[in-house]
Amino acid sequence: GSTLGVLGGGQLGRMFVHAAQAMGYFTAVLDADPTSPAGLVSHHHVQTGYEDAAGLAELARLADAVTTEFENVPATALAALGALRPVSPAAGAVAVAQDRAQEKAHFVRCGVACAPYAVIETAEQLAAVPADLLPGILKTARMGYDGKGQVRVKTAAELAAAWESVGRVACVLEKMLPLALECSVIVARGADGACVHLPVQRNLHRDGILAVTEVHAANLPDTVARQAIAGAISIATGLAYVGVLCVEFFVLQDGSLVVNEIAPRPHNSGHYSQNACDVSQFELQVRTMAGLPLTQPRQHSPAFMLNLLGDLWFAADGSQQTPPWAEVLALPGTHLHLYGKRDAKRGRKMGHLNITADSADAARATALKAAALLGIAPF
Ligand code: ATP
Ligand code: MG
Ligand code: MG
Repeated sequence: GSTLGVLGGGQLGRMFVHAAQAMGYFTAVLDADPTSPAGLVSHHHVQTGYEDAAGLAELARLADAVTTEFENVPATALAALGALRPVSPAAGAVAVAQDRAQEKAHFVRCGVACAPYAVIETAEQLAAVPADLLPGILKTARMGYDGKGQVRVKTAAELAAAWESVGRVACVLEKMLPLALECSVIVARGADGACVHLPVQRNLHRDGILAVTEVHAANLPDTVARQAIAGAISIATGLAYVGVLCVEFFVLQDGSLVVNEIAPRPHNSGHYSQNACDVSQFELQVRTMAGLPLTQPRQHSPAFMLNLLGDLWFAADGSQQTPPWAEVLALPGTHLHLYGKRDAKRGRKMGHLNITADSADAARATALKAAALLGIAPF
């Protein structure tokens, strides 16, 4: 059998490995951590960092094709692997997703509206920021996730202080937009250019981290959903993208749609597809990298997804506890996914709970019951 390789051993890699194995592939994970969630379940585990030439060569020897689950894998590692094996997504597309300035320039090129912004790499650019971008959010161009590397600023003085506080690294300043809601779309694009997508997901963030995703027909207006899908496909096509891509959007209070950012891999907001769709985002990842046909996934059940953060492993008095899985799983239509991480930390993604039912109302009711049992605030 052939072997599929993945750079990164986190939960996304673990769920990719599960999907690949279910379809009969052997797997190879590259991650320096000997207890990484994906490394623990993979046939092969190359325990080196992403910059280690010997490790990369070993992954290329083991794997017939390579993908990534970690957004910030050095583009040089993907390029080095790309010289030896088919790598999807390619280094160039990942490099765009890794840099907010390049990412926004790509949105503009594709004609998909994004927040008004300015690139700040120098003191001159800082001084020249137009006043109408304030209040805004200063975001480091590279390495941010879960709201890290972001500072909200109201005035030019606050902006200057914020840029100092992030170490004067390359940033983008985005205008603060009046959001009505957030949504995202998972698209998969094959090497032949064929594109399929999951239904548009509606996302609720708390403290900068995805908390709840809900997916059902009454989620958001049809016209908005159609626009989001068309925008996501043109962003993927413009990158000559091969693989699974998540595109995050804002719906503004006036109903208009604005693209936020992209992730060059399966995404937390697409996890519901494991239990609510006939093809999951991880199976799509396997299909794109293995050159298998893509068929349009069908959602067969309305769905909710609750993120299970490490906070749930701590009681009110700070002592460790195990969440009440048996009570949660006694609710019909609940599907527990845990990532095999040994130590819980506050804010750390430990797993997720998918909830499916035959109606959106029933799914919401079950999701709210599960949330109450787990100590997740209602939504
Ligand atoms: P992720 O973990 O999704 O990669 P991130 O750290 O890259 O997150 P963003 O998606 O850029 O961060 O922003 C995090 C959240 O902050 C958004 O989901 C949204 O709620 C809010 N936000 C970001 N940019 C804006 C904006 N221009 N106007 C209003 N709210 C915003
Ligand atoms: Mg991001
Ligand atoms: Mg985001």
